[in-house]
Amino acid sequence: GGIILKAHVDQDLCISCGLCISTCEDVFHWNDDEKAEAIEEEVSAELEDSVREAIENCPTEAIQEV
Ligand code: SF4
Repeated sequence: GGIILKAHVDQDLCISCGLCISTCEDVFHWNDDEKAEAIEEEVSAELEDSVREAIENCPTEAIQEV
């Protein structure tokens, strides 16, 4: 088991490139403003690696671990 984390997308920084959603669509989705949004839940250990990948690869560093 990994460390449990929660992800949060800063709506002002997200440029809607879609990378996080294609990396981990179990956690990230489009919201009504056409920005990415993370589920407001702790991420299971199985998804942790792909969430970390999304955090690292976001071009504007809009995703934070909370
Ligand atoms: Fe927005 Fe970053 Fe996700 Fe791209 S990778 S949609 S900029 S949060």
